[in-house]
Amino acid sequence: MNLNLIEDACQAQGSRHRGRLAGTFGEVGCFSLNDGKIYAAGEGGYLLIDNPVIAARAAAYRTH
Ligand SMILES: *Cc1c(COP(=O)(O)O)cnc(C)c1O
Repeated sequence: MNLNLIEDACQAQGSRHRGRLAGTFGEVGCFSLNDGKIYAAGEGGYLLIDNPVIAARAAAYRTH
């Protein structure tokens, strides 16, 4: 079985589980910067991705 983990780490910037940073457990780590979040920038967010194929696909959706 080949499962890809998309990690919801929306408000976990800088936190760790067993020494590993949030957002680095799966293929994609997702963070939110919307109002009301720990790190707010009005709206938006960002992804942590180390697979160039997945990063290119995600970038194609960045303005949606
Ligand atoms: C805010 C939040 C979301 C939704 O993210 P948005 O980019 O604001 O829509 C998802 N998961 C968690 C844990 C959140 O805190």
